[in-house]
Amino acid sequence: MRQRLAILGSTGSIGVSTLDVVARHPDRYEVFGLSAQRRVDLLLAQCRQFRPRIAVVATEAGAAELRRGLKDAGLATEVLVGPEALCQMAAAPEVDAVMAAIVGAAGLPACMAAARAGKRLLLANKEALVVGGGLFMRAVAEGGATLLPIDSEHSAIFQCLPEDRRTWAQRIDHIVLTASGGPFRQREHASLHDVTPEQAVAHPNWVMGRKISVDSATMMNKALEVIEARWLFDLEPERIRVVIHPQSIIHSMVVCRDASVLAQLGTPDMKVPIAYGLAFPERIESGAASLDFLQLAALTFEAPERSRCPGLFLAWDALRAGAGTTAVLNAANEEAVAAFLAGTIAFTAIHKVNAHTLEALPPGLGADHTLEDLLDLDRRARALAGRLIKELSA
Ligand code: NDP
Repeated sequence: MRQRLAILGSTGSIGVSTLDVVARHPDRYEVFGLSAQRRVDLLLAQCRQFRPRIAVVATEAGAAELRRGLKDAGLATEVLVGPEALCQMAAAPEVDAVMAAIVGAAGLPACMAAARAGKRLLLANKEALVVGGGLFMRAVAEGGATLLPIDSEHSAIFQCLPEDRRTWAQRIDHIVLTASGGPFRQREHASLHDVTPEQAVAHPNWVMGRKISVDSATMMNKALEVIEARWLFDLEPERIRVVIHPQSIIHSMVVCRDASVLAQLGTPDMKVPIAYGLAFPERIESGAASLDFLQLAALTFEAPERSRCPGLFLAWDALRAGAGTTAVLNAANEEAVAAFLAGTIAFTAIHKVNAHTLEALPPGLGADHTLEDLLDLDRRARALAGRLIKELSA
Protein backbone atom coordinates (compact mmCIF):
# COMPACT_ATOMS: atom_id res chain seq x y z
CA MET A 1 0.00 0.00 0.00
CA ARG A 2 1.32 3.43 -0.93
CA GLN A 3 1.30 6.09 1.83
CA ARG A 4 -1.13 8.88 1.04
CA LEU A 5 0.28 12.32 1.84
CA ALA A 6 -1.16 15.74 2.54
CA ILE A 7 1.46 18.47 2.20
CA LEU A 8 0.52 21.70 3.96
CA GLY A 9 2.55 24.51 2.41
CA SER A 10 3.65 22.52 -0.64
CA THR A 11 4.86 25.63 -2.51
CA GLY A 12 7.43 26.59 0.14
CA SER A 13 11.03 25.53 0.51
CA ILE A 14 10.20 22.43 2.62
CA GLY A 15 7.12 21.65 0.50
CA VAL A 16 9.13 21.65 -2.73
CA SER A 17 11.92 19.51 -1.19
CA THR A 18 9.28 17.07 0.10
CA LEU A 19 7.81 16.68 -3.39
CA ASP A 20 11.33 16.17 -4.73
CA VAL A 21 11.82 13.20 -2.38
CA VAL A 22 8.30 11.89 -3.06
CA ALA A 23 8.90 11.98 -6.83
CA ARG A 24 11.84 9.59 -6.36
CA HIS A 25 9.55 6.96 -4.80
CA PRO A 26 6.32 6.68 -6.77
CA ASP A 27 5.97 3.09 -5.52
CA ARG A 28 5.80 4.27 -1.88
CA TYR A 29 3.95 7.60 -1.86
CA GLU A 30 0.85 9.07 -3.38
CA VAL A 31 -0.09 12.76 -3.04
CA PHE A 32 -3.62 13.24 -1.70
CA GLY A 33 -3.52 16.98 -0.97
CA LEU A 34 -1.42 20.10 -1.54
CA SER A 35 -1.75 23.68 -0.33
CA ALA A 36 -0.46 27.19 -1.03
CA GLN A 37 -1.10 30.68 0.25
CA ARG A 38 -0.12 32.94 -2.67
CA ARG A 39 1.82 30.96 -5.28
CA VAL A 40 -1.10 29.54 -7.26
CA ASP A 41 0.97 29.08 -10.44
CA LEU A 42 3.44 26.82 -8.65
CA LEU A 43 0.57 24.93 -6.99
CA LEU A 44 -0.94 24.34 -10.43
CA ALA A 45 2.37 22.98 -11.73
CA GLN A 46 2.53 20.65 -8.69
CA CYS A 47 -1.05 19.50 -9.36
CA ARG A 48 -0.09 18.70 -12.96
CA GLN A 49 2.82 16.57 -11.79
CA PHE A 50 1.31 14.84 -8.73
CA ARG A 51 -2.44 14.81 -9.51
CA PRO A 52 -3.70 15.29 -5.94
CA ARG A 53 -7.34 14.72 -4.97
CA ILE A 54 -7.50 18.11 -3.13
CA ALA A 55 -5.71 21.46 -3.38
CA VAL A 56 -6.25 24.24 -0.83
CA VAL A 57 -5.65 27.94 -1.44
CA ALA A 58 -6.16 31.06 0.69
CA THR A 59 -8.66 33.09 -1.34
CA GLU A 60 -11.64 32.68 -3.66
CA ALA A 61 -9.71 34.58 -6.36
CA GLY A 62 -6.84 32.08 -6.05
CA ALA A 63 -9.31 29.22 -6.18
CA ALA A 64 -10.90 30.55 -9.39
CA GLU A 65 -7.47 30.89 -11.01
CA LEU A 66 -6.47 27.39 -9.94
CA ARG A 67 -9.78 25.86 -11.14
CA ARG A 68 -9.29 27.44 -14.59
CA GLY A 69 -5.78 26.00 -14.85
CA LEU A 70 -6.89 22.56 -13.67
CA LYS A 71 -9.74 22.52 -16.18
CA ASP A 72 -7.37 23.42 -19.05
CA ALA A 73 -5.09 20.57 -17.91
CA GLY A 74 -8.03 18.14 -17.73
CA LEU A 75 -7.48 17.48 -14.00
CA ALA A 76 -10.24 16.62 -11.51
CA THR A 77 -8.47 18.00 -8.37
CA GLU A 78 -11.03 19.52 -6.00
CA VAL A 79 -10.14 23.07 -4.93
CA LEU A 80 -10.98 24.19 -1.38
CA VAL A 81 -10.43 27.56 0.29
CA GLY A 82 -9.20 28.80 3.65
CA PRO A 83 -7.89 27.62 7.02
CA GLU A 84 -10.87 25.32 7.74
CA ALA A 85 -10.17 23.46 4.50
CA LEU A 86 -6.55 22.94 5.61
CA CYS A 87 -7.80 21.27 8.80
CA GLN A 88 -10.23 19.17 6.79
CA MET A 89 -7.48 18.01 4.45
CA ALA A 90 -5.07 17.26 7.33
CA ALA A 91 -7.67 15.10 9.09
CA ALA A 92 -9.18 13.43 5.99
CA PRO A 93 -9.65 9.69 6.53
CA GLU A 94 -7.84 8.94 3.23
CA VAL A 95 -4.63 10.63 4.50
CA ASP A 96 -1.91 8.53 6.17
CA ALA A 97 0.77 11.20 6.68
CA VAL A 98 0.76 14.98 6.87
CA MET A 99 3.80 17.12 6.10
CA ALA A 100 3.30 20.32 8.14
CA ALA A 101 5.33 22.86 6.15
CA ILE A 102 3.33 26.06 6.57
CA VAL A 103 5.37 28.87 8.08
CA GLY A 104 4.24 30.43 11.35
CA ALA A 105 1.45 30.00 13.90
CA ALA A 106 -1.00 29.94 10.98
CA GLY A 107 -0.14 26.24 10.67
CA LEU A 108 -1.20 25.34 14.23
CA PRO A 109 -4.93 24.55 13.70
CA ALA A 110 -4.18 22.13 10.83
CA CYS A 111 -1.37 20.49 12.85
CA MET A 112 -3.79 20.04 15.75
CA ALA A 113 -6.37 18.55 13.38
CA ALA A 114 -3.79 16.05 12.05
CA ALA A 115 -2.67 15.20 15.61
CA ARG A 116 -6.23 14.63 16.84
CA ALA A 117 -6.93 12.45 13.80
CA GLY A 118 -3.95 10.23 14.67
CA LYS A 119 -1.89 10.85 11.54
CA ARG A 120 1.82 10.41 10.98
CA LEU A 121 2.68 14.06 11.46
CA LEU A 122 5.92 15.25 9.88
CA LEU A 123 6.56 18.53 11.65
CA ALA A 124 8.63 21.22 9.93
CA ASN A 125 6.31 24.01 11.14
CA LYS A 126 8.17 24.62 14.43
CA GLU A 127 6.07 27.69 15.29
CA ALA A 128 3.03 25.42 15.65
CA LEU A 129 4.72 23.53 18.48
CA VAL A 130 6.20 26.69 20.02
CA VAL A 131 2.67 28.12 20.24
CA GLY A 132 0.80 24.88 20.97
CA GLY A 133 3.27 23.48 23.55
CA GLY A 134 1.69 21.04 26.01
CA LEU A 135 -1.72 21.31 24.34
CA PHE A 136 -0.21 20.16 21.04
CA MET A 137 1.60 17.25 22.71
CA ARG A 138 -1.60 16.14 24.46
CA ALA A 139 -3.44 16.17 21.12
CA VAL A 140 -0.68 13.96 19.68
CA ALA A 141 -0.93 11.52 22.60
CA GLU A 142 -4.73 11.44 22.75
CA GLY A 143 -5.13 11.18 18.97
CA GLY A 144 -2.52 8.40 18.77
CA ALA A 145 -0.51 10.39 16.21
CA THR A 146 3.14 9.67 15.39
CA LEU A 147 5.09 12.93 15.62
CA LEU A 148 8.19 12.96 13.42
CA PRO A 149 10.52 15.98 13.60
CA ILE A 150 11.68 17.47 10.29
CA ASP A 151 13.81 20.34 11.59
CA SER A 152 17.32 19.03 10.90
CA GLU A 153 18.48 19.44 14.52
CA HIS A 154 15.48 17.62 15.98
CA SER A 155 15.62 14.95 13.31
CA ALA A 156 19.28 14.47 14.28
CA ILE A 157 18.39 14.02 17.97
CA PHE A 158 15.52 11.71 17.01
CA GLN A 159 17.86 9.62 14.84
CA CYS A 160 20.27 9.27 17.80
CA LEU A 161 17.56 7.91 20.10
CA PRO A 162 15.95 4.47 20.21
CA GLU A 163 12.43 4.09 18.81
CA ASP A 164 10.94 3.40 22.23
CA ARG A 165 10.50 6.90 23.66
CA ARG A 166 9.89 5.51 27.16
CA THR A 167 13.66 4.93 27.38
CA TRP A 168 14.60 8.52 26.49
CA ALA A 169 14.38 10.11 29.95
CA GLN A 170 16.63 7.48 31.47
CA ARG A 171 19.20 7.68 28.67
CA ILE A 172 19.59 11.46 28.00
CA ASP A 173 21.74 13.68 30.19
CA HIS A 174 21.29 16.67 27.90
CA ILE A 175 21.07 17.50 24.23
CA VAL A 176 23.19 19.91 22.21
CA LEU A 177 21.55 21.72 19.33
CA THR A 178 24.06 22.98 16.79
CA ALA A 179 23.63 26.40 15.18
CA SER A 180 25.45 27.75 12.14
CA GLY A 181 25.35 31.23 13.68
CA GLY A 182 23.85 32.68 10.48
CA PRO A 183 25.36 35.34 8.24
CA PHE A 184 26.27 37.72 11.12
CA ARG A 185 27.91 35.21 13.42
CA GLN A 186 31.01 37.31 14.02
CA ARG A 187 29.28 40.64 14.49
CA GLU A 188 27.98 42.27 17.66
CA HIS A 189 24.19 42.63 17.63
CA ALA A 190 24.42 46.41 18.18
CA SER A 191 26.40 46.81 14.93
CA LEU A 192 23.62 45.31 12.77
CA HIS A 193 21.28 48.31 12.63
CA ASP A 194 21.69 48.89 8.88
CA VAL A 195 21.47 45.29 7.73
CA THR A 196 19.08 44.91 4.75
CA PRO A 197 16.55 42.09 4.26
CA GLU A 198 18.62 40.74 1.35
CA GLN A 199 21.74 40.54 3.54
CA ALA A 200 19.76 38.90 6.34
CA VAL A 201 18.24 36.16 4.17
CA ALA A 202 21.60 35.19 2.61
CA HIS A 203 22.27 32.16 4.82
CA PRO A 204 25.81 30.73 4.51
CA ASN A 205 24.81 27.02 4.49
CA TRP A 206 21.06 26.49 3.98
CA VAL A 207 18.58 27.61 1.30
CA MET A 208 15.28 28.31 3.09
CA GLY A 209 12.14 30.47 3.13
CA ARG A 210 12.55 34.17 3.98
CA LYS A 211 11.08 34.07 7.51
CA ILE A 212 13.28 31.24 8.78
CA SER A 213 16.29 32.84 7.07
CA VAL A 214 15.78 36.06 9.04
CA ASP A 215 15.23 33.95 12.17
CA SER A 216 18.58 32.29 11.51
CA ALA A 217 20.26 35.69 11.21
CA THR A 218 18.82 36.85 14.58
CA MET A 219 19.27 33.33 16.04
CA MET A 220 15.60 33.43 17.01
CA ASN A 221 15.40 30.29 14.89
CA LYS A 222 17.56 28.54 17.47
CA ALA A 223 15.43 29.99 20.27
CA LEU A 224 12.33 28.48 18.61
CA GLU A 225 14.22 25.19 18.26
CA VAL A 226 15.12 25.12 21.96
CA ILE A 227 11.40 25.48 22.74
CA GLU A 228 10.54 22.86 20.11
CA ALA A 229 13.06 20.44 21.65
CA ARG A 230 11.60 20.95 25.12
CA TRP A 231 8.29 19.51 23.88
CA LEU A 232 9.50 16.93 21.36
CA PHE A 233 11.89 15.26 23.79
CA ASP A 234 10.15 16.19 27.07
CA LEU A 235 13.26 17.86 28.50
CA GLU A 236 13.62 20.54 31.16
CA PRO A 237 15.00 23.77 29.62
CA GLU A 238 18.39 23.42 31.38
CA ARG A 239 18.96 20.09 29.62
CA ILE A 240 18.89 21.78 26.21
CA ARG A 241 22.13 23.47 25.18
CA VAL A 242 23.22 25.28 22.05
CA VAL A 243 26.66 25.37 20.45
CA ILE A 244 27.67 27.30 17.35
CA HIS A 245 29.05 25.03 14.66
CA PRO A 246 29.52 27.17 11.55
CA GLN A 247 30.00 24.27 9.11
CA SER A 248 26.49 22.76 9.74
CA ILE A 249 27.85 19.21 9.35
CA ILE A 250 26.94 17.89 12.79
CA HIS A 251 23.19 18.47 12.94
CA SER A 252 22.88 17.96 16.72
CA MET A 253 23.95 15.65 19.54
CA VAL A 254 22.64 13.62 22.44
CA VAL A 255 24.90 13.49 25.50
CA CYS A 256 24.00 10.29 27.36
CA ARG A 257 24.08 9.67 31.13
CA ASP A 258 27.34 7.74 30.72
CA ALA A 259 28.97 10.75 28.93
CA SER A 260 28.84 9.03 25.56
CA VAL A 261 27.90 11.49 22.79
CA LEU A 262 25.76 10.46 19.83
CA ALA A 263 25.72 12.76 16.82
CA GLN A 264 24.10 12.74 13.40
CA LEU A 265 26.15 14.16 10.52
CA GLY A 266 25.44 14.96 6.90
CA THR A 267 25.53 17.59 4.20
CA PRO A 268 23.19 20.51 4.96
CA ASP A 269 20.26 19.39 2.81
CA MET A 270 16.69 19.24 4.16
CA LYS A 271 15.91 16.30 1.89
CA VAL A 272 17.71 14.07 4.43
CA PRO A 273 15.41 14.73 7.43
CA ILE A 274 12.41 14.83 5.07
CA ALA A 275 13.25 11.38 3.67
CA TYR A 276 13.78 10.08 7.21
CA GLY A 277 10.38 11.39 8.31
CA LEU A 278 8.66 9.97 5.24
CA ALA A 279 10.17 6.50 5.53
CA PHE A 280 10.59 6.15 9.33
CA PRO A 281 11.61 3.65 10.63
CA GLU A 282 13.06 2.65 7.26
CA ARG A 283 15.62 4.57 5.19
CA ILE A 284 15.13 5.59 1.57
CA GLU A 285 17.19 7.48 -0.99
CA SER A 286 16.82 11.22 -0.35
CA GLY A 287 18.62 12.71 -3.33
CA ALA A 288 21.10 14.52 -1.05
CA ALA A 289 24.85 14.20 -1.59
CA SER A 290 26.64 12.22 1.09
CA LEU A 291 29.52 13.61 3.09
CA ASP A 292 33.01 13.35 1.68
CA PHE A 293 35.15 13.22 4.83
CA LEU A 294 38.36 13.78 2.90
CA GLN A 295 37.03 17.08 1.55
CA LEU A 296 35.73 18.33 4.91
CA ALA A 297 37.20 21.45 6.45
CA ALA A 298 37.76 21.44 10.21
CA LEU A 299 34.66 21.12 12.35
CA THR A 300 34.67 23.96 14.87
CA PHE A 301 32.53 24.94 17.85
CA GLU A 302 31.90 28.21 19.70
CA ALA A 303 29.75 29.30 22.62
CA PRO A 304 26.82 31.59 21.73
CA GLU A 305 27.23 35.00 23.35
CA ARG A 306 24.45 37.25 24.61
CA SER A 307 26.01 40.34 23.01
CA ARG A 308 25.88 38.70 19.58
CA CYS A 309 22.56 36.84 19.73
CA PRO A 310 20.38 38.17 22.57
CA GLY A 311 17.27 36.62 20.99
CA LEU A 312 18.52 33.08 21.58
CA PHE A 313 18.49 33.56 25.35
CA LEU A 314 14.80 34.52 25.37
CA ALA A 315 13.99 30.83 24.78
CA TRP A 316 14.96 29.69 28.27
CA ASP A 317 13.31 32.76 29.88
CA ALA A 318 10.06 32.06 28.02
CA LEU A 319 10.12 28.34 28.86
CA ARG A 320 10.55 29.08 32.57
CA ALA A 321 7.69 31.62 32.57
CA GLY A 322 3.96 30.77 32.60
CA ALA A 323 2.07 28.71 30.02
CA GLY A 324 1.57 30.63 26.78
CA THR A 325 4.73 32.75 27.12
CA THR A 326 6.36 31.01 24.17
CA ALA A 327 3.25 31.79 22.09
CA VAL A 328 3.69 35.49 22.95
CA LEU A 329 7.35 35.35 21.93
CA ASN A 330 6.49 33.63 18.65
CA ALA A 331 3.73 36.10 17.76
CA ALA A 332 5.97 39.11 18.47
CA ASN A 333 8.74 37.60 16.38
CA GLU A 334 6.49 36.83 13.40
CA GLU A 335 5.23 40.42 13.40
CA ALA A 336 8.71 41.88 13.84
CA VAL A 337 10.24 39.74 11.07
CA ALA A 338 7.41 40.65 8.68
CA ALA A 339 7.95 44.34 9.50
CA PHE A 340 11.70 44.01 8.94
CA LEU A 341 11.19 42.23 5.59
CA ALA A 342 8.73 44.98 4.58
CA GLY A 343 11.40 47.61 5.34
CA THR A 344 9.42 49.12 8.24
CA ILE A 345 11.86 48.48 11.11
CA ALA A 346 15.59 47.93 11.46
CA PHE A 347 17.09 44.47 11.92
CA THR A 348 18.04 45.28 15.53
CA ALA A 349 14.45 46.33 16.29
CA ILE A 350 13.33 42.69 15.93
CA HIS A 351 14.87 41.82 19.28
CA LYS A 352 13.45 44.97 20.91
CA VAL A 353 9.93 44.07 19.78
CA ASN A 354 10.32 40.48 21.03
CA ALA A 355 11.79 41.39 24.42
CA HIS A 356 9.32 44.23 25.09
CA THR A 357 6.27 42.18 24.07
CA LEU A 358 7.36 39.38 26.39
CA GLU A 359 7.75 41.84 29.24
CA ALA A 360 4.47 43.64 28.62
CA LEU A 361 2.14 40.67 28.14
CA PRO A 362 2.09 38.06 30.88
CA PRO A 363 -0.17 35.42 29.26
CA GLY A 364 -2.00 34.31 32.42
CA LEU A 365 -3.21 31.02 30.94
CA GLY A 366 -4.31 28.20 33.22
CA ALA A 367 -3.11 24.61 32.85
CA ASP A 368 -6.39 23.70 31.14
CA HIS A 369 -6.16 26.31 28.36
CA THR A 370 -7.64 25.56 24.95
CA LEU A 371 -6.57 26.13 21.35
CA GLU A 372 -8.94 29.11 21.24
CA ASP A 373 -7.18 30.61 24.32
CA LEU A 374 -3.82 30.27 22.57
CA LEU A 375 -5.10 31.80 19.33
CA ASP A 376 -6.62 34.68 21.31
CA LEU A 377 -3.29 35.20 23.12
CA ASP A 378 -1.52 35.10 19.75
CA ARG A 379 -3.83 37.88 18.49
CA ARG A 380 -3.25 40.04 21.58
CA ALA A 381 0.53 39.61 21.35
CA ARG A 382 0.44 40.58 17.66
CA ALA A 383 -1.58 43.71 18.45
CA LEU A 384 0.90 44.73 21.13
CA ALA A 385 3.90 43.97 18.92
CA GLY A 386 2.22 45.97 16.14
CA ARG A 387 2.05 49.03 18.40
CA LEU A 388 5.74 48.67 19.29
CA ILE A 389 6.62 48.30 15.61
CA LYS A 390 4.76 51.54 14.85
CA GLU A 391 6.73 53.36 17.54
CA LEU A 392 10.05 51.92 16.37
CA SER A 393 9.37 52.75 12.72
CA ALA A 394 8.55 56.40 13.47
P1 NDP B 1 8.32 29.08 2.98
O1 NDP B 1 8.02 30.51 3.26
O2 NDP B 1 9.30 28.75 1.90
O3 NDP B 1 6.95 28.28 2.67
C1 NDP B 1 5.83 28.41 3.50
C2 NDP B 1 4.65 27.66 2.90
O4 NDP B 1 3.48 27.95 3.68
C3 NDP B 1 4.29 28.08 1.48
O5 NDP B 1 3.68 27.01 0.82
C4 NDP B 1 3.27 29.21 1.71
O6 NDP B 1 2.43 29.42 0.58
C5 NDP B 1 2.50 28.64 2.88
N1 NDP B 1 1.92 29.67 3.74
C6 NDP B 1 2.48 30.83 4.14
N2 NDP B 1 1.65 31.50 4.97
C7 NDP B 1 0.55 30.74 5.09
C8 NDP B 1 -0.69 30.90 5.80
N3 NDP B 1 -0.94 31.98 6.55
N4 NDP B 1 -1.62 29.94 5.69
C9 NDP B 1 -1.39 28.83 4.92
N5 NDP B 1 -0.25 28.63 4.23
C10 NDP B 1 0.71 29.57 4.31
O7 NDP B 1 8.79 28.44 4.36
P2 NDP B 1 9.80 27.22 4.61
O8 NDP B 1 9.46 26.08 3.72
O9 NDP B 1 11.18 27.73 4.65
O10 NDP B 1 9.43 26.83 6.11
C11 NDP B 1 8.23 26.14 6.44
C12 NDP B 1 8.31 25.73 7.91
O11 NDP B 1 9.37 24.78 8.04
C13 NDP B 1 8.66 26.89 8.85
O12 NDP B 1 7.99 26.70 10.07
C14 NDP B 1 10.17 26.75 9.06
O13 NDP B 1 10.58 27.25 10.30
C15 NDP B 1 10.32 25.22 9.00
N6 NDP B 1 11.65 24.79 8.59
C16 NDP B 1 12.13 25.15 7.37
C17 NDP B 1 13.41 24.77 6.96
C18 NDP B 1 13.92 25.10 5.59
O14 NDP B 1 15.01 24.63 5.25
N7 NDP B 1 13.22 25.86 4.80
C19 NDP B 1 14.27 23.99 7.86
C20 NDP B 1 13.64 23.62 9.10
C21 NDP B 1 12.38 24.02 9.45
P3 NDP B 1 2.93 30.38 -0.66
O15 NDP B 1 4.15 29.73 -1.20
O16 NDP B 1 1.81 30.31 -1.63
O17 NDP B 1 3.17 31.73 -0.07
